[in-house]
Amino acid sequence: MAEKGKIAIYPGSFDPITNGHLDIINRSSKLFDELIVAVSSDNSKETLFSINQRKNMIEQSVSNINNIKIRSFKGLLVDFAYSENIKTVVRGLRALSDFEYEFRMAIMNRNLNEDIETIFLMTHEKYAHISSSLVKEIYFLGGSIADFVPGPVLKGLEKIKDE
Ligand code: ADP
Repeated sequence: MAEKGKIAIYPGSFDPITNGHLDIINRSSKLFDELIVAVSSDNSKETLFSINQRKNMIEQSVSNINNIKIRSFKGLLVDFAYSENIKTVVRGLRALSDFEYEFRMAIMNRNLNEDIETIFLMTHEKYAHISSSLVKEIYFLGGSIADFVPGPVLKGLEKIKDE
């Protein structure tokens, strides 16, 4: 089989993508030959944006980075990673509060498939306070979120508000 280079997967809900996610994408795209941003379409989690809207907003926000692919997946992340022959998962850490969940998830994923490693990038302090849920809350309460999300997300939110 041809050498594929180092590929990593950055999974998440991205409902919607924020500048914090973008920072993790930018930084990990420099560490790997290719980065797959994998949007989870897990139906158990209610999302504001549809899977295609979330993928489109990511696509429009990362057009300056050329070693990225955007995909969606259903079901277990480890199964998706395995089917794509990818063994590295990237996640971001903001605060201690992220650690507990991420720690359990990384160990569970290793139990499900011990070939898959999770690595963590610490948030840039500029983005430590940004989360998709807080951004949505502030936006619908009338606050400005222009510093927290890329332009395509602002447009996406405006469209939903007008509907
Ligand atoms: P999930 O629903 O899988 O937690 P999210 O879309 O909320 O997905 O986040 C995806 C990943 O990005 C998670 O590892 C999360 O901790 C990380 N992340 C989210 N916001 C930030 C941020 N501001 N800085 C760094 N990492 C972040």
